[in-house]
Amino acid sequence: LLHALARSYRVGDNDLHSTASIGLAVYPNDGEDGETLMKEADTAMYHAKSLGRNNVQFFTAELNDAAVKRLTLERDLRTAVESGQLELHYQPQLDSRDGRVVGVEALVRWRHPRQGLILPAVFIPIAEETDLILSLGEWVLNEACRQLRAWRDLGLRDVTMAVNLSAHQLYSPVLLTQVAQALAVHGLEGADLGLEITESVAMRDPDASISRIQALRELGVRLSIDDFGTGYSSLSYLKLLPIHILKLDRSFVRDIETDLNDVAICTATIALAHNLGLAVVAEGVETEAQRSLLCSHGCDFMQGYLFSRPLQVDAALAFIRERQAA
Ligand code: C2E
Ligand code: MG
Ligand code: MG
Repeated sequence: LLHALARSYRVGDNDLHSTASIGLAVYPNDGEDGETLMKEADTAMYHAKSLGRNNVQFFTAELNDAAVKRLTLERDLRTAVESGQLELHYQPQLDSRDGRVVGVEALVRWRHPRQGLILPAVFIPIAEETDLILSLGEWVLNEACRQLRAWRDLGLRDVTMAVNLSAHQLYSPVLLTQVAQALAVHGLEGADLGLEITESVAMRDPDASISRIQALRELGVRLSIDDFGTGYSSLSYLKLLPIHILKLDRSFVRDIETDLNDVAICTATIALAHNLGLAVVAEGVETEAQRSLLCSHGCDFMQGYLFSRPLQVDAALAFIRERQAA
């Protein structure tokens, strides 16, 4: 079937190509009625797609377990926002020169009533595939602004808040209003807020990104490209994106002490960013050697377990105060 379907089709003057992803469920082991078998074949087909398409997968019990688990999580996630199960943790971002805390990045966690703390890598993709990401993202934005306001009222100055944006949010027509409202409601200025957009999301539709980012920038908000180096940046677009910061991805920082290629990538990225007038934040700095190497190459800001893990709100405030006092 795969072979037959992969042959080209003549449509008008064009030869068109298409491939198939096939899922199989077999009677009677997998199920005894048509409805069950079709549902299982469908699950297997989605698995075939996720493996890169153009292949055949059989339905298995593990696939079923994974599908059921996912559906359960998706169902639970639908009520997580309203029932207050989401929380933000805050990871400090430090100035490389003097170790001052210049900001924090808000990272969302889900305190699931039965499964405990769930990390965003598990539920953000589910939220992204459904419409849930919009309400989740809006909650994060508001909660982060509320928290910064509360810190400001406690006398904390000079610390900014960075929030991660999903693809749906970036391309959503209501984003601009949401950001402007969150700032206004909590009495913050644009410059108090940073928004992080992953490279792959920004490059998905570069022309649209440029206009969205420009509009956000006009509010005074600082824009970062997150996970830089892992997407497929077109450098001609990078220079057009009205951003302020490149965040050097953790995967390059990790082996910087042992892998000369990673050293080359880090130093070249720092130089590229500086030549484009952008600042650089290194992500995932875990060792003193990584810190001093990045520092010697002029990396502006750093974030990582060496300084602090993402912290709950009280611990974050204590960390910032301790650093400011020092
Ligand atoms: P990210 O924005 O690149 O955030 C950095 C991630 O690296 C965080 O993982 C952080 O805990 C982790 N990290 C920081 N320093 C170190 C280090 O020194 N070593 C190691 N091994 N890891 C470090 P986390 O919190 O699990 O978040 C993962 C991703 O989930 C984030 O990557 C971001 O893309 C996404 N995310 C988190 N919160 C939100 C949110 O509110 N909205 C959206 N759309 N995405 C979010
Ligand atoms: Mg981020
Ligand atoms: Mg990142």
